[in-house]
Amino acid sequence: MIKMKDVHKKYKNGVSALNGIDIHIEKGEFVYIVGPSGAGKSTFIKLIYREEKASKGSVVINDIDLGTLKEKEVPLLRRDVGVIFQDFRLLNKLTVYENIAYALEVIEESPKHIRTRVMEVLDLVGLKHKARFLPDELSGGEQQRVAIARAIVNNPIIVIADEPTGNLDPDTSWDIMQTFEEINTRGTTIIMATHSKELVNTIKKRVIAIEGGVIVRDEDRGEYGYEA
Ligand code: ADP
Repeated sequence: MIKMKDVHKKYKNGVSALNGIDIHIEKGEFVYIVGPSGAGKSTFIKLIYREEKASKGSVVINDIDLGTLKEKEVPLLRRDVGVIFQDFRLLNKLTVYENIAYALEVIEESPKHIRTRVMEVLDLVGLKHKARFLPDELSGGEQQRVAIARAIVNNPIIVIADEPTGNLDPDTSWDIMQTFEEINTRGTTIIMATHSKELVNTIKKRVIAIEGGVIVRDEDRGEYGYEA
């Protein structure tokens, strides 16, 4: 599903963010990525959806070798990989419904399918009744639910989340985690970078710790392992 072999990433300014990552993540896993700031977590995540390219080594996502993937083929990869960010990144002039529908319109799905599927994912995240709202009429937790709905509307095989609860209060964070668990139960692989000691130590999953651009720990049902 996700295979990295001796992956290095050196940015143009000379910073080596990743220094030899070897990893294998199977379909349906739920994985936390932890580690101090600047460890390379975001870079690791960006390699999976080809926001950044590895400088060395191989990254294979769902049998797609990202090393040889052409720019014009990147949208194909993005159908398999949904992405969620700390700051939601919704389009503020579009309604909740339109934010999600947009992801299907760009791949030219039929209007009928779009309508059914958007309402389906809004139902899954509990926001059907807010389809006509604008993002700034919603709470932070609701906005993140919209971002989750948008990320899963294409039925991706993998969902990647970079600090998805970083801007949310603890109660809202638990709700968001339940949504991720629900998506994972349906078979989607989840990779989540987080600084939340409480979430990691309570909702036990595989934990991959990165420090200085290398994996220093990889445990099933692991602990956060750092001070909060
Ligand atoms: P984390 O997500 O664990 O905080 P990052 O992957 O964001 O770590 O960063 C790892 C290292 O790479 C840091 O030293 C950071 O400053 C550097 N870095 C991240 N993005 C870039 C970039 N676009 N250009 C140059 N250096 C970067």
